[in-house]
Amino acid sequence: MTVSTQTVSTIQFPYKRTLGPVMGRFFSELTARRIVGIRSGERVIVPPMEYDPETGNELARDFVEVGPAGTVRSWTWVAEPIESHPLERPFAFVLIRLDGADTDMVHVLDAGAEDAVYTGMRVAPRWRDEPVGRIDDIVCFVPGERAEAPEGEPGEAREVTTMEYFSTITYTDVLSPTLVRYASNLRAGKLTGQRCPRCNRVFLGRGYCSVDAIRLGPELDEDLPDRGVVSNYTIVTPTPYPGQKETEPFARASVVLEGDEMVIAQQQILDLPVSEIRVGMRVRAEWMPEAERDAAEITSKGWGTVAGFIKGWRPTGEPDEPAEQYMNRVF
Ligand SMILES: [Zn+2]
Repeated sequence: MTVSTQTVSTIQFPYKRTLGPVMGRFFSELTARRIVGIRSGERVIVPPMEYDPETGNELARDFVEVGPAGTVRSWTWVAEPIESHPLERPFAFVLIRLDGADTDMVHVLDAGAEDAVYTGMRVAPRWRDEPVGRIDDIVCFVPGERAEAPEGEPGEAREVTTMEYFSTITYTDVLSPTLVRYASNLRAGKLTGQRCPRCNRVFLGRGYCSVDAIRLGPELDEDLPDRGVVSNYTIVTPTPYPGQKETEPFARASVVLEGDEMVIAQQQILDLPVSEIRVGMRVRAEWMPEAERDAAEITSKGWGTVAGFIKGWRPTGEPDEPAEQYMNRVF
C-alpha cells in the first residue's frame, strides 16, 4: 500500500499592528479613493514615510495628493499566480511613478498579456467597491489615464489606525524513505522500527541513531510487538482553548513495547477510568480499522508517532509488571 511522500501544512495566525500617524493617514485617504505622499525637501515620497530616508530626520507631516494615474518605471510578469498573489490571472508586478510623486510605488498591473506591458506605459488605479483602508483598496492598476471606480463620489475619508491580517505560511514536509516505509508498515497493521547495531536501541521511523549518530538503513528494519507496559502517565484536566475538544479529565500515557527499550509517548488508554491507570499495567494496541488509517500525522518532525494508525491501548488483564522497573522511562 502506498503512502504519500510529502505533506503540505499551513500555519496561520492573526496579526494586528498600529499604523502610526503617517501610514495611518495614507490608509485613511485610500478609504476616500485618494493617494497621498509626504513632502521631504523638494521631493514627494509615496507611500509616505515618517523619516527622510537619506538623513533619518523626522519629516513634517506635509501630505500631498498624487496620481491617481502614473507611469510604469519597471515591471516583472507573473505568468502563473500562486494563492498568495493578489490576482488569480497572469499579471505584472510594477513600480509606478504616480503623477506628482518622486519615488516609485510597487503595485500590481492587470494588463491581460505580457506583451501589453512596457516601461513608460500610463496606468491608473482600479478601486475596490468598498474601500477598507488597505493597500488592496486599489485592486490593481490598469492601462490608461482613467481610474476605474464604482459609480458615485466616495464618502469622507475614515480614520484607519490599525492593520489586521492573517499571517500565513504554507510549507511542504518531505518524508524520508525511512518514514515512508514506517508509514506503509503501519498501514498494513505492523509496527516496525530500526535497531541500532551499536547501542541496540530501537527507533521508529527515524533512519538514524541519535545516540551514536549513525545511519540506520532498511536492512535494520524489524517488526515490533504491539503490546507493552504503561511506564508513565499524566492526567490532564482540560481547560477550554480553541481546538480543545476534551471536556473531561483524560490521560496520556507512555507505553514501553514488550521486551524492548522503545517507548511510545502520548498514548490513550482505552476502556479504563483515568483513576485506574497504573504504571506497570500491561496493554495491547487497538488499531484503527484499515479504511480509516491515515498517515497525515507522520511527518519528519519529532519522534515516530503512531497517530492515525493506533487508536489507543487496551488493558490485557494480565498481572502488572513491578512499577519500580519503569522509573525514568517517559521517552
Ligand atoms: Zn545507537
